[in-house]
Amino acid sequence: MDFYLNNQETEYRTMVTNYAREVLSVERDRIDGQGELQEGDISNLVTAGLWGEHFFTNTNWTTKVTTLIELAKESPSLAGFLVDSLAAASLCSNESGQDRTVLALVEEQAGSDFQSMSTVASRTSDGWVINGDKCFVTNASITSAFVVFAKVDNKPAVFVVESRTPGVAIQSEQSKMGLNGLRFFNVSFQNVAVPETAYVAVESEEVMQKVFSYLALGMGALSIGIAEAAFNLALDRARARQQFGKPIGDNQAVQFMVAKMVVKINAAKSMLYRATQRLDVGEAPGASANAAKLMASEACRDVVHHALQIYGGHGLLSEHRISQLYQDQRITELFGGTSETQRNAISKYVIEELYA
Ligand SMILES: Cc1cc2nc3c(=O)[nH]c(=O)nc-3n(C[C@H](O)[C@H](O)[C@H](O)COP(=O)(O)OP(=O)(O)OC[C@H]3O[C@@H](n4cnc5c(N)ncnc54)[C@H](O)[C@@H]3O)c2cc1C
Repeated sequence: MDFYLNNQETEYRTMVTNYAREVLSVERDRIDGQGELQEGDISNLVTAGLWGEHFFTNTNWTTKVTTLIELAKESPSLAGFLVDSLAAASLCSNESGQDRTVLALVEEQAGSDFQSMSTVASRTSDGWVINGDKCFVTNASITSAFVVFAKVDNKPAVFVVESRTPGVAIQSEQSKMGLNGLRFFNVSFQNVAVPETAYVAVESEEVMQKVFSYLALGMGALSIGIAEAAFNLALDRARARQQFGKPIGDNQAVQFMVAKMVVKINAAKSMLYRATQRLDVGEAPGASANAAKLMASEACRDVVHHALQIYGGHGLLSEHRISQLYQDQRITELFGGTSETQRNAISKYVIEELYA
């Protein structure tokens, strides 16, 4: 048993691991290789209790990241979609927000500085009208609703917009590297009329900190899942591949890479579970989620790098999954707050504490 999971949580992890191995490993080439994530993949997770209202609202953060790590080992794309939906669902107060909902936050000219967004919402007699363009909207083609960030009286606010609402249009798909089962779209909102109930909250520091903490924890878990998958592949390869008449794993140079990988994974896991335990007992997260995400994404980068090195030139061949994981890893240092914005958040928190 790992020190950060109790017996019940360890049993739960076994259940998710078995699901991921039995169901996702079979579908992985379609989802992550060919990029064909289908509605049925999500429905299966809902049936297994790993997605949807119950999972979003009734499980603690230790359970959520455990689920994400295990799913990410088999299908990083599916886990990535779940990370986005979890953060989006945390802002939804109605049922429509509990299923396939994703964030529509970033704009072409407003990325890390999302507060400079130009999407606006204006009041009408019976609700709101939204106008603006968003990019990087994840799997917009199969989502039921968007959590749209728009300015009201020049302050950011949040709206839950059903994807079939007139005026919502997918403009184009953004082609990209890695996480093939996650597809990105430019989505426009033109005179989109929504009822009063679509309005969730005027953005406050507290609300945004919550969403970004959730994104950071989710991306930390995704990073660990990818890193563990790469590590397992590298171990098998180190045992099986023979050069100079012996397994390459018999060389100290390879053994040291294995040692570095396992230390980085364990350090990242410790920080991630420390952050979830703080949230689960109601402690203020401080910068623990930012630090865990930063640590996990950079650990993932290093582990995948070493794993591919152990594969040698064969690691670049698409027939080996490690080449896919090498591409998938890159997202973890960007989405959910880049490493630079995580460092900004951590140093701001530490300096404020120091001088408080
Ligand atoms: C796979 C993936 C999925 C995504 N999914 C979604 C989604 O579902 N919904 C959504 O809204 N968005 C999504 N995004 C967008 C993501 O949130 C942005 O890419 C991210 O916030 C960075 O914004 P940007 O790409 O515009 O980079 P920029 O903000 O232009 O940053 C470029 C570089 O400058 C650095 N930088 C910027 N400002 C500072 C600063 N103040 N200090 C130090 N360095 C700084 C950044 O760290 C980065 O290295 C996704 C992105 C990816 C890659």
